[in-house]
This record gives sequence, structure tokens and C-alpha cells, in this order.
Amino acid sequence: MSSVLEIRNLHVSVEDKPILKGVNLTVRQGEVHALMGPNGTGKSTLAYTLMGHPGYTVTAGQVIFKGVDVLELEPDERSRLGIFLAFQYPVAIPGVSVANFLRTAINARRKAANAADKGISIPEFRKLLKAKMDLLQMNHEFAGRYLNDGFSGGEKKRAEILQLATLEPQIAILDETDSGLDIDALRIVASGVNTLAGPELGVLVITHYQRILNYIKPQFVHVMHQGRIVETGGADLALHLEEHGYDWVREKHAD
Ligand code: ADP
Ligand code: MG
Repeated sequence: MSSVLEIRNLHVSVEDKPILKGVNLTVRQGEVHALMGPNGTGKSTLAYTLMGHPGYTVTAGQVIFKGVDVLELEPDERSRLGIFLAFQYPVAIPGVSVANFLRTAINARRKAANAADKGISIPEFRKLLKAKMDLLQMNHEFAGRYLNDGFSGGEKKRAEILQLATLEPQIAILDETDSGLDIDALRIVASGVNTLAGPELGVLVITHYQRILNYIKPQFVHVMHQGRIVETGGADLALHLEEHGYDWVREKHAD
């Protein structure tokens, strides 16, 4: 049976200010969704809330994955359940290589599933990592670099996508920066998503970028406005946004 992430009537406040005001969204394994919308409408707030960031307070609603109440889980438990949440601004870990970080993450999951697990062997891990890097057409030297230490924006995205490929979650949520200058980052994420998407993986790509169809082919497109998803459609909706921008959304859904 396919795994389903269900966000039901989610209300979230930041510093007592209501930001999300009733978000409903269902993402199934095997589906690619794009969440779009103007700046400041709550897209990143949704991503942070799904991650379990302590600064975001859920005041109403539910998030259910595989029948489990996600909001009751710690971020690492959410990850082990099969939800991958990429950080918009990942932290650097000098002294820890990308490879070591990934092996530690894999072993933490295996241990959580079975306390007696001895962890993935080094040769087995090397084989896995090499296969994933080849799949993503990444230079193998990348695995030896310290995680996010001095990484460019694009390299951070590559590290994120490699993590996604290696951890093999059922649902991935990727929040993009809102700057138009970060088109290279979107391109890296998009090619990773296009490579990894399939019946085993559901993806929610959060982006401000209206010409997203040049990069990703989502089956579902959602538009967020003032803390709610106000429009849902297929690729045609993204095309409409590309042609007309967000002004019509603001006008149609003005208070
Ligand atoms: P988007 O990702 O759609 O651009 P955000 O979720 O980042 O929107 O922001 C939605 C609103 O929440 C904005 O008005 C923003 O100022 C506010 N907000 C988000 N995070 C914080 C925070 N950590 N502290 C204070 N205000 C915040
Ligand atoms: Mg944002």
C-alpha cells in the first residue's frame, strides 16, 4: 500500500502571529506536487512545521503519515518514518565528511529499526554511495568534503539531493529559496527530483519560481495565499502562473 502524507486544516503561529490558517494537502507516494505562491504567504512556515522546528506552533489541525500523528514526533522520528525534509539553509558541519554524515544517518535508522543492528559495512556503504552518486551524475570527490563547509548554494543542494537519494524516504519535502537568483539551485534540485521520482517516492517541491515547468513536471500544482492553499490544479495551473504571475491570485482571494 502506498504511503500518504495528509495535512488537515493546519493552523500555525509564529511568535503568536497566525501564519498558516487552515492548510489542507495530501501527498501520496509516487506523486510530484509543487507548492507555489508569492513571498510571505507561509510556504516555508509549512516546511518548518513539517520538520518540527520548535519556533512554529501548531494551534489546530493534523499531519498524518502512515496513520501516525507526525506532530507528536521528534524531527529524527519523522525522518525514520520515511519523511525527508530538506533544510532551506543547511548548517555546516566542519570535520564531518558528506560520506560520514550519510553513513551515520543510515546507521541511526537501522539501529532505530533494530537495536541489534551492527550498521552498514564500509564496503556495502561505499557501493551504495557510489551507485547514488552515479545516478545523480555527481563527482565522487564530493563525498569526501566536509558537509556544507564552504559549499556554494548549488553544492548545498547537491548534498541535500544526495541525502535524499541515500535515505530513500517515501515522501520528500524540498523548500527552495525565494530568490530568482537561485535558479541554479532549482535546476539542481529539479534534475535530482526528476531522477529520483517514481512509484516509491512522493515529492512536495516548494518554490516561488513561476517558470517551474521548465525544470520539474509536477502532476499537482498548489498556490498558497495568506496562509491557505487557494488554488490546486495540474501543470496547466503552473503554466497560467508563468503567463500571468500571482496578481490574479491576490485579487481573486483578497479579504
Ligand atoms: P514564504 O516561504 O511563503 O515566503 P514564510 O513562511 O517564510 O513565507 O513567511 C510567512 C510569514 O511568516 C511572513 O509574514 C513572515 O514574516 C512570517 N515569519 C515566518 N517565519 C518567521 C519567524 N521565524 N519569525 C517571525 N516571523 C516569521
Ligand atoms: Mg520561503
